[in-house]
Order: sequence, then structure tokens, then C-alpha cells
Amino acid sequence: MFENLSERLSGVFDRLTKQGALSDEDVKTALREVRVALLEADVSLPVARDFVKRVQDKATGQAVTKSVTPGQQVVKIVHDELVHTLAGDTEDPGKLRIDSPPAPILMVGLQGSGKTTTTAKLAKRLKDRDGKRVLMASLDTNRPAAMEQLQILGVQIGVDTLPIVKGETPVQIARRAKTQASLGGYDVYMLDTAGRLHIDQELIQQAAEVRDVTNPRETLLVVDGLTGQDAVNVATEFDDKIGVTGVVLTRMDGDGRGGAALSMRAVTGKPIRFVGLGEKMDALETFEPERIAGRILGMGDIVALVEKAQQTLEAEQAERMMKRFQKGQFNMNDLRQQLEQMIKMGGMEGLMGMMPGMGKMQKQVAEAGMDDKVITRQIALIQSMTKKERANPQILQASRKKRIAQGAGMEVSDLNKLLKMHRQMADMMKKMGKGGMMKKMMGQMM
Ligand code: GDP
Repeated sequence: MFENLSERLSGVFDRLTKQGALSDEDVKTALREVRVALLEADVSLPVARDFVKRVQDKATGQAVTKSVTPGQQVVKIVHDELVHTLAGDTEDPGKLRIDSPPAPILMVGLQGSGKTTTTAKLAKRLKDRDGKRVLMASLDTNRPAAMEQLQILGVQIGVDTLPIVKGETPVQIARRAKTQASLGGYDVYMLDTAGRLHIDQELIQQAAEVRDVTNPRETLLVVDGLTGQDAVNVATEFDDKIGVTGVVLTRMDGDGRGGAALSMRAVTGKPIRFVGLGEKMDALETFEPERIAGRILGMGDIVALVEKAQQTLEAEQAERMMKRFQKGQFNMNDLRQQLEQMIKMGGMEGLMGMMPGMGKMQKQVAEAGMDDKVITRQIALIQSMTKKERANPQILQASRKKRIAQGAGMEVSDLNKLLKMHRQMADMMKKMGKGGMMKKMMGQMM
């Protein structure tokens, strides 16, 4: 999948990675090519433009990591941005809201998009992976063959389908499915709505009526990934008229241009939940932005290389910090950094628990009642100091202490406690440094 985009982009980056130092102009030229590649992959113009702009902003501001070329670093940034664009803020796309049984799932989409196939694939997944009892119903009253197709698939995967009753309207079928699902003790019932070749008034009207009588927990739009930009237009239209909770992109096993996946999230704001990867009933996967980005870019080696180099850089920084601590150069800025780290890592107690030989300190902390709120106030105190004072807190006179405490809305005694803690920690760091303890400790903290 995505061969085209991947090939085009790797051509661009091959040229980039071979050069030594990169100028702004080089980055610009390369990103112009990225933009063309994206457009040729059927990514919509605003999305491509936005994408390139974000990559450029990041590439310009980023510190150069030793041992990778700037070009390789750009590849990494493009990769991260691809993931970001594809993912949005959806945490777990594969998780369907199917609590409170029987939960209705409405399947919508154009004819031929793979809607019926996807309905069955999803039913199978719910049954096999989640142990759910699923009922499927086809509402495609215009095409008896479509209703039969769902029935056949149901038998094949061992999922029940609602018996076909001739002459019913889609809304009547939906009502019957709802009743049957309740009476039959099903966890989920899936409604495979009628498709059309194009979106028309009647189709939308019908889907809206079905929606209103069943109140679906999920409304999944099935779109053909091969149709590129059209897929995005279809999604926008369906979402405006019916409201969808997610998209399933089918035919992602084909040699499509991949642009649909990239534009889909950005344009519609709707998460891609699943991708169809073939005609077989198990050819459905949860949408994984990392994976799709990797396939689009096709440069996993470089991404891994840069990640490694960045880790090395962080380790180098930690090492430098450690050397300073060992020399007794633990100042208020360092303390502040540590405090911020503590909040990030789940509070003082959590952090102390991770350090060897810190049991005693942990006890002190517990006795002093240090929680995140206290830590936040200590950070505020440090912020009220001047640069000079932070580097060398010994110079603090009584009058300054008063001002600093006031500035942070606290008492001088609070500040004294903080200063005492700083002294204790600085001493401890120095001692530990001598015994090689520090290295062990920092290793655990990073
Ligand atoms: P519907 O009209 O939207 O219900 O479409 P169908 O479910 O009948 O699918 C139309 C055709 O597309 C069938 O031949 C399916 O086997 C095929 N199809 C569906 N999903 C995929 C997919 O992810 N990959 C491939 N290669 N074919 C698919």
C-alpha cells in the first residue's frame, strides 16, 4: 500500500540524506518536493500546505543532534508530523462504544465502498475478540442481493442476521432489529444501511430516519481508500448530514495513493477507526497511525536512527548534569528541574521510591506533607528569585527573602524550608557522586 507516496518521498530524502550540512534553502527545496509528492498522492492542497509548514517550523527550530545529518532529522520530523496528522487526538481507534446492550452500530457509505463486507468483518471481530453476541441486519431494501449477501456472510462467520421480511421499509427493519436484539439478549446490533452510487437526498433521508429510531452508539462511515480525494468529500458530506463517529477505510491493501488517509482526519476531523486490507473476513485492522506513517514514508531505518541519536543526546545531557552535581554545583535551577520532573513522574513519593537508598528521605517527605501542591509552590518560590540568586542561593539576605516569599504569596519560613531542602539535596548529591551512587541514580531517573 502507498507505494507511490513512499517512493516519491524516499527519492526526495535520498538526496537530502546524502548531503552534509543542510541550509534553510535545502530544507525549503526538499519540502517543496514533499508538497508536490503529497499533492500527487491526492492529499488535499490545504492539508499538504499545512503539513509542510508544520514540518518547516519544526525543522528550523530544532537543535541539531550529533551523529545524524540534518536531512535525516528532517525525515524524522516528517514522520512525526505524519503520525500527528493521521492520529489527531484519538487514543484508541479500535475501541467501540458498545456498553449498555444492545448497542446499535450504524454502518453508512456509498454502494461498493465495502460496507457490507466491513459490517461482517467488524461483527466477526466483536464476536471473536470481545466475545460479544452480535446481530446483523441489512436495510438495503432496494437490493435484495445485498440483503442475501449479508446473510451468507453471517453464516460464514457464525453471526446471526435478522430474518429477511419482504416489503418492509428500512425504518421498519431497524425497529425490528432493535426489538430482536433486546429480546434475544444481543450485546450489539449492526445496521447495514442501503448504499447508492452517489450521495442523494433519499439516501441521506433514509439513514437519518434509521438513526433517529435507533440512536446509534457508533455511526461508522465506510469509504473506499482508493478513491482518494473523493473519499474525503464523501466523508464530509455524510458527517454534515448524518453525523459520523468514525471512518473505516477499505481497500488499503491495494496500491492506492494513500492521500485519503492523510487528508481524512485533517479535513473531516473524524478519526479513522479501522482499515480494510482485503476481501477475507479477518482482513480488518485497527487503524495505527505509526504503522501507516511508516508505510507512507517507508523510511523506518532513518526514523529509528534519529530516535536513537536523540536518546544519546539526552543521556549526554544527563551525564553533564551529573558531573556538575558531583562537583557540588547543584543550584536552584537544578532543584526546580527536579521538582518539575517529580510532578511529571507522579509526585515526590513516586520518584523517591524509584531511587536506591532514598528510603530515609522518602520518610522525611511524607512527614513534611509534600504533595504536588507543595511542589508547585516551591517552584513558584524559585521563579521569584533572580538569575543570580538561583545560581547561588547563599547570597540571599533577609530583605530579599521577604520579597521573594511575598512575590510567591508565601511566608519566609516556606522559603527557608526550601533552601534547607536544597542544601540537603546538594550535599547528598555530592556524597553520592563520590560513591558512584549518583550514576546509578541518574540512570534510573532518566
Ligand atoms: P457495499 O456495496 O458497500 O456493501 O460493498 P461490498 O461489501 O459488497 O464490497 C464490494 C467489493 O469490495 C466486494 O467484492 C468485497 O469483497 C470488496 N472489498 C471490501 N473491502 C475490501 C478491502 O478492504 N480490500 C479489498 N481488496 N476488497 C474489499
